Amino acid sequence: MAGKGTGQQRLNKVVQKIAGTMKAEVCSVYLVNQDGTLELFATEGLKQEAVHISKLKMGQGLVGHVAQTGLPLNVAEASRHPKFFYLPETGEEIYHSFTGVPIIRHLKVTGVLVVQNRKAGIFTTVDVETLQTVAMILAEMLSASNLGDIRSLTGPEAGAPGQVTFDGKKLTGGLGVGKAVFHEPKVELQELLTEDIKGEKSRLEKAFRAMRKQLDSLMQAPDLALFGDHREVLEAYKMFTYDQGWKNRITEAVESGLTAEAAVEKIMQDMRTRFVEMKDPYLKERLHDLEDLSNRLIRILMGYVGEKAHHKLTEDSILVARSMGPAELLDYDRKYLRGIVLEEGSPTAHVTVVARALGIPMLGRVRGALETIEEGDRVIIDAGACKIYIRPTDEVKRAFNISLREHLKLRKIYEAERNKPAITKDGEKITLMMNAGLLMDMDHLERTGAEGIGLFRTEFQFMVSSTLPRMSVQKELYAKILKAAKNRPVVFRTLDIGGDKQVPFLPHEEEENPALGYRAIRLALSRPGLLRYQVRALLAASAGRDLNIMFPMITEVSEFTEAKALVLREVEYLNRTGAKKPKKIAIGSMLEVPSLAWQLDSLLEEVDFLSIGTNDLMQFFFASDRSNPKLSDRYDLLSPAALSFIRSIVTACQDKGVPVNVCGEMGARSLEALALIGLGLRALSISPSAIGPVKMMIRQLNLKDFQEWFLPKLSEHCHSLREALKGYALDHNLPV
Ligand code: PEP
Ligand code: MG
Repeated sequence: MAGKGTGQQRLNKVVQKIAGTMKAEVCSVYLVNQDGTLELFATEGLKQEAVHISKLKMGQGLVGHVAQTGLPLNVAEASRHPKFFYLPETGEEIYHSFTGVPIIRHLKVTGVLVVQNRKAGIFTTVDVETLQTVAMILAEMLSASNLGDIRSLTGPEAGAPGQVTFDGKKLTGGLGVGKAVFHEPKVELQELLTEDIKGEKSRLEKAFRAMRKQLDSLMQAPDLALFGDHREVLEAYKMFTYDQGWKNRITEAVESGLTAEAAVEKIMQDMRTRFVEMKDPYLKERLHDLEDLSNRLIRILMGYVGEKAHHKLTEDSILVARSMGPAELLDYDRKYLRGIVLEEGSPTAHVTVVARALGIPMLGRVRGALETIEEGDRVIIDAGACKIYIRPTDEVKRAFNISLREHLKLRKIYEAERNKPAITKDGEKITLMMNAGLLMDMDHLERTGAEGIGLFRTEFQFMVSSTLPRMSVQKELYAKILKAAKNRPVVFRTLDIGGDKQVPFLPHEEEENPALGYRAIRLALSRPGLLRYQVRALLAASAGRDLNIMFPMITEVSEFTEAKALVLREVEYLNRTGAKKPKKIAIGSMLEVPSLAWQLDSLLEEVDFLSIGTNDLMQFFFASDRSNPKLSDRYDLLSPAALSFIRSIVTACQDKGVPVNVCGEMGARSLEALALIGLGLRALSISPSAIGPVKMMIRQLNLKDFQEWFLPKLSEHCHSLREALKGYALDHNLPV
């Protein structure tokens, strides 16, 4: 391909050479066009008139099948294969043996290399392997050589097809557009073939040593990224680096004449072929590990060690990764970061927490993203709609720009209204506070006009640390939070860890039902040292000002009184030593376990305030896992049952004069917020981005009228009041 002549002439020579060497009567190259069809680009043995004329759809015929599956196909009698499709213009009917292998570049099928023979069953598995190696080299050569003159015969540049849409899981809402940037950029192989086999073997040996060293130092680094799952992943990685089988296979490939990096790439492709056929999800995960490691090894071989240049973004960008740690995300220049697309990712992952705090739209579980997206592709992320558009059409771009303009317009309106109070038309004041968990969340206070922090999730600090945060570190964070809040109240919730919120410094025991398990206050009371430290840090940080503290997952009143007693003992200690104390201390409870709703009489005697955590409360109420996507639409929080339940809690608090709010996600959706206010709630603590829209709804609301219509509906027997509420909102011009 590097020789003389036009691209077409060079490709013709290549197929002739392969046919000759493999003793095949036919050798053809099909390439994927922009529209996704496979076009015959060169052939030795088939009719030349068919070149650039014969086309197959993805999945059509044996060639289309190879392209679609990305797997090699070796059949003794082509016409007997269920996928057989005959192209009359090629004159291929006389050939019986067929072997096709995908031409793969950057994990993407860009074409198919085929050999055929009149004699049936002639190609062996060794031939298939040889052809795969040839296809790999061909893939690199095709991309490196200028094929412009061939492409011009067929129109648009082949390779990247047109717009592709992917669904994912919304991890952080929002819209963004930018150029795709790979978190771990793919490396272009330079040299593929070598004569110096000994030299390549020694390069490989050195690279393996360097990789092990790299992983060792990663594991020892007191880095933010290194906790929980990351550690396990790295341990597994390390095991692979000592896997003799993997190394032997790469060495064999070097012995066949490939450079060390080409050999690593080839073995990765071979493994990919094998893994794809496996059903076991665990083994599939291991493929990811091996791919990551292979890429790491290739980068080392090519001298890209520790390079972080890609962290410098120079224009609006969408970051694409399999997964990443929170510290890695923080390494990027946020000015140009418009969105994140992850192949993995989960709503409770730390990187999600950070992305949410930074307000970066993020979509997770986008299977196939790495394979389909090319570095530099334009990508639109519409996280609210759970979609990404790769290489969007003009129509989609236009629609996106309209949505973005609307989005920005609304944001401006919300910001302009941030200092206006959330008062209904008939004069009811609703307190809108925001939820937070990291110091950087505090910037949102000013921007949104939130009246305080109704829920500060202290566990985040513990989750992003590889060791137990010392008391001084905890105190420092709480003091900074209070300082950033200025005079606004902050409600600190004590550690809500355990269950599915694991911290690296506590032994992790697998539990059958983690949400119902050894977590939150249960863990805190059986290991009171942890809670005591935290309470001390909170008391010290709020010396001279008000401290609001609450406990998660209280299930019985006795748990609350025990935790409260621990706080009071610490206060007593401060009294005795004469240390500075908070001016006032309010001690409250989360209500997120249904059993507590039947102990309100005694609980309300003990608490200074109550905060309803609808996320957990509703998962227990409906016995419906809050993180199981299959159940997410099954039950509705706007059902008369759930709403009546919340109403009974609110009424009991009001009767006893105990302040109550909702701090679960429910209050962040305007329609649900409307219902909650209708139930009697006068305070909500919600995510910062929801403050503007909820306030806008409140300022349009005539609460008395609404309650008159709404409250009688609680006794209806139906699945949900959602549609009725939407109808009311529409009739009364309420923006929900
Ligand atoms: C809740 O359960 O509603 C809540 C606010 O707590 P978290 O989401 O942290 O469990
Ligand atoms: Mg909870």
